[in-house]
Amino acid sequence: MFEYQAPENLLRDRIILVTGAGSGIGRTAAKTFAAYGATVILLGRTLEKLEQVYDEIEAAGHPQPALVPLNLESAQEHDFVELTNTLEQEFGHIDGILHNASLLGVRTPIESYDPVIWQQVMQVNLNAPFLLTQILMPLLDKAENASIVFTSSTVGRKGRAYWGAYGISKFATEGLMQTLADELETTSNIRTNCINPGATRTQMRANAYPAENPASVASPEDIMPLYLYLMGSDSLEVNGQSLDAQ
Ligand code: NDP
Repeated sequence: MFEYQAPENLLRDRIILVTGAGSGIGRTAAKTFAAYGATVILLGRTLEKLEQVYDEIEAAGHPQPALVPLNLESAQEHDFVELTNTLEQEFGHIDGILHNASLLGVRTPIESYDPVIWQQVMQVNLNAPFLLTQILMPLLDKAENASIVFTSSTVGRKGRAYWGAYGISKFATEGLMQTLADELETTSNIRTNCINPGATRTQMRANAYPAENPASVASPEDIMPLYLYLMGSDSLEVNGQSLDAQ
C-alpha cells in the first residue's frame, strides 16, 4: 500500500471536482477529500447516488459539497462550458480534478469487440476527461497550485487479452497525462499524474472478476493515502508520474 499520513487539514479551502463520485472509489475519494477539508464537486450520472454522498458529507459536518449530475457519455462541449461558468461564479477557481469515472465495457477479443461499446468506453474514459480538463484549464490556472489526477489501470500499462477498449483507453489516459504534464511542467502551477488503484472492492471489480471473493481485495478506504497525497501540497513537485495506490 502507498504509505502517506495526511495532516488533518490537508485539503482545507481546496475545491476539488471528482467524477464518478456516486459509487465505488469516486464516492470514497469524495468523502475522504471532504473529511480533510475540501469542498468537493460531485459529478456523476446517477443523481440519487450523488445526493446520498452529498447528504453523508453534510451529516459528517464537512464543507458543503456541490452537485453536478452529468452523463459523460452524452455530455457535449456546451455542458462543460456551462459547468465551468457555474464553478467560476461559485468559487472563482478550482484546485483539483480527480478523473475517476470509467466504463468497463465488455471483456472480449478485439476481433469481436462491438464498435458501439468501443465508442462508449472511449467517450467516458478518454474523450470526456480530455474535454473537461481542457475547458476547466482556466479555472485550474487561477489556483495557487492545482492537481489533475487521472485514473489508470494495470491493463493500461501492458496490453492484456480481452480487456479491449477499457485497457486501451487507460493506455491513452497515461499518454494524455504525460503529454499534459510535459506541457505544463514549466508554464503553470498545475501538476498532472495518474493513479493505478490496483484491485479494489467495487462494482466494477465484481463485474470484471465475478468469481472473486470481494473480501480478498482492498477496500476503497484502504487506497486513499495516494489520493490524498496527490491532491494535497505534499505532492507539489510530483508531475507526470503514474503511481500505484497499492
Ligand atoms: P465503479 O464502476 O464502481 O464506479 C465507476 C463510477 O463512474 C460510478 O460512480 C459511475 O456512476 C461512474 N460513471 C460511469 N459511467 C459514467 C458516465 N457515463 N458519466 C458519469 N459517471 C459515470 O468503478 P470503480 O470505483 O471500481 O473505478 C473507479 C476508477 O478506478 C475507474 O477509472 C476504474 O477504471 C479504475 N480502476 C478500478 C479498479 C478496481 O479494482 N476497482 C482497478 C483499476 C482501475 P454510476 O454509479 O452512476 O454508475
